[in-house]
Formats: sequence, C-alpha cells, structure tokens
Amino acid sequence: MPSPLQNAVARLDQLGLVSDSPSYLVRSFLSPANRQAAEQILEWMASLGMEISHTADGTVRGILAGSNPTAPPLLLGSHIDTVIDAGKFDGPLGIITALAALETLQQENTTLPFPVHILAFSDEEGTRFQTTYLGSRGVIGALDSATLATRDAGGNTVAAAIEDQGWYEESTSIRYTKGECRGYLEVHIEQGRVLEAAGEAACVVSAIAGQSRLTVTLTGRADHAGTTPMPLRRDALAGAAECILAGETLAKSKPPLVITVGKIQIHPGASNSVPQSATFTIDLRHPEDVAREQDLDDLHQTCLHIAEKRSLALDWQPIQDNPSTRCDPALTASLLASLTSITGSQRTLASGAGHDGVILSKICPIAMLFIRCRDGLSHHPDEYATPEDINTGIQILTHFLKSLIPADMSK
Ligand SMILES: [Zn+2]
Repeated sequence: MPSPLQNAVARLDQLGLVSDSPSYLVRSFLSPANRQAAEQILEWMASLGMEISHTADGTVRGILAGSNPTAPPLLLGSHIDTVIDAGKFDGPLGIITALAALETLQQENTTLPFPVHILAFSDEEGTRFQTTYLGSRGVIGALDSATLATRDAGGNTVAAAIEDQGWYEESTSIRYTKGECRGYLEVHIEQGRVLEAAGEAACVVSAIAGQSRLTVTLTGRADHAGTTPMPLRRDALAGAAECILAGETLAKSKPPLVITVGKIQIHPGASNSVPQSATFTIDLRHPEDVAREQDLDDLHQTCLHIAEKRSLALDWQPIQDNPSTRCDPALTASLLASLTSITGSQRTLASGAGHDGVILSKICPIAMLFIRCRDGLSHHPDEYATPEDINTGIQILTHFLKSLIPADMSK
C-alpha cells in the first residue's frame, strides 16, 4: 500500500496534468479542467471515507465527522485553479497535504474529536475574471453584485458563467457563517526565497501583507526629438523613470516594504518624439497597514515633487486597497509549536502574496504553513517542492491536528 507521502506526490503529479491547454498548465474558474480536477479530488476525499459535496460554482468539500460531529469544524484546504502556464504546487499542495495528514491519522487509528472539512476552492487566482478569491468568497456568502457583474475576456459575467457553465448536478450550497468554525488552516508553497536561503523546509505565516494598487499618469508635452533643446522639454517618460527609481529606493530602504512597477504605456511612443504621457502601475505591499499607508503617502509626495520640478501633471489613481490580514495568535502558536517539534525551527514570515485565508479570516481564525520551493519560483512551470519538504509539511500538519485533541482524550 502506498504511504500518505507517496499518494501525495502521485496526486500532485496527476493534477499537474489536468489542464485546459495541451501545451501548459492552466485551470480557470468553471473551466473543463477545473471541474475535472475537482471531480478527481472528490474521489480522493471519498476514498478516505469523507462525506463529499460540491457547489454550483465548482468548489468541493470533504467532511470527516470525527468522534463529535456537532463540534465546530476545522477547515483545511486551498485552491484548485491556476494561473496561465502554472506550476503544479500552488494551490493543490494545500489540498493534497490535508488529505495526507488525515490519511496518516487513519493509519494510526487516531480519531479527532471534531469534524475536519477539506475545501478545494474553484478560484483564487482570478485568471478568468481578473477578480480574485471567487471560490472562498462563495462559501462565506461574499460574492457581491459588483463581483457577479465582472466580465471575462469573452464578455461573460461571473453570474452568467455560473448560470450557463455551473456544475449543477447534485450540487449543494456550502456556506459558513461567522463563529461557526474552529479555524482555517492552509499549507502553501512559500513562493519566495527566504526558506531556501535559510536552509529550512517550512515556516509559519504571521500575516498576509496588505496591498495598494494604483495607476499613475504623468503628462507633459510631445515635441520633436531633434529640434527641442533639453531644457525646454517636458518629457513624461523621463519623469516616470525618476518616479519609478524613487519607489525602488524607498522600498530598498524600508524592508519588508516591496514596490513594483510592472506595466508602463507611453504616448505617442515613437523613437523621434519626446513622450507626452506615461501611464504606469504601482503595486505596494507591507504586512503593517499603518506603514503601508505612510510609505504610499511618502511615494506620492516624492512623485508630486518630481512632477512639479519637470512641469508635468500627475494623476494618482488608487485602484485597490486591501488591508493586511493577521493570522490568529492562538492557532498560529499551536502551529508554531508543531513546526518546532518537527523541524526545530521557530521561523515566522509574513506572506507577500494573497491567499484564501484573507477571505476566511472574515468568519474564523486562520493560520498558514509555508513549504520551501526551489529558487523561490512560483506561477511558473518549474515550480517545485521536494518530496522530503512535502513530507515535513504533512508531519507538521498531522502533529498540529493531534495537538488539538484535549489531553484527557488522547490515548
Ligand atoms: Zn496559491
């Protein structure tokens, strides 16, 4: 019989082949591959004796009742969807390690005194609609009208996609309300290089960083590249370059602040014209909201100063402002004790990337465990975690689950 680790590695490989494209891995909200992956996960849940169900919008759930089926459930899980040309660990690792931990407990004949629900969310990445967390928002009843009206590249709304492509056969509603659950715990690859640099297999997440996203436009004047002397120019791109470098300098001086300009558009965009306008994005993240707001304000002031000095107009448009999410102190302390017991490490790390825990934190305490990934690579086909590190993750999760058994109940 294969071990829980062997099953986990084989299952990650198997899901990695379930794709909507023949040439790379992609699964998006309500796509055929997303549903195929969901059906496969339901089969694995059922093989553990879990009671299985799924929603019309493609999120699946397995319930292991435990010895007290009416106790508040502990939620485990992650997302099934992927980015375009993805790796096979981002998302599935959290579902597969949860299955492996329950399998380990079953082999040891350990029954938990509370139900465990494993959730596999249909959308976290927002690949299809550019709006994230559709799956987890669905299970807490937070798919608002603005989200349902969001359109994909083909012009379909989220609501129409659910209506026309939903998975209605035998679907049920999965809905959690505030205070009903014991907590939500997710295992995820780190998606960064901290653990690799430290030579450690895993760490506990302290918080999920807040994010500000903006679109900034600098406007000057288009001029002839040959006839306009340098002092007379109002070059929007040169101004944008100065602003971008100012952002980089600010972030380098204030870790863990990170600032990224990932997109820029120039008008008119000709080699013989002085640029009239430059529009660029800013993505600014920090685990502390007060610091994020202060740093964003500092950058805004610097950009205003640069624009003024260069006689440019500055348009500063906030697009998104997500506060940071603290992991629950009590649940995190238990998880940290399990990390220390299995690996000796006491490391905690703030997550720069968003996760489903951001949404689940609105209804219950959350905690997260990060697993080392090679070269810190993620959202890339070369994304990789070793079987040894996956095994460490399964052991920590199993230890954590057992630590929730009251002392007078354990054998
Ligand atoms: Zn993920």
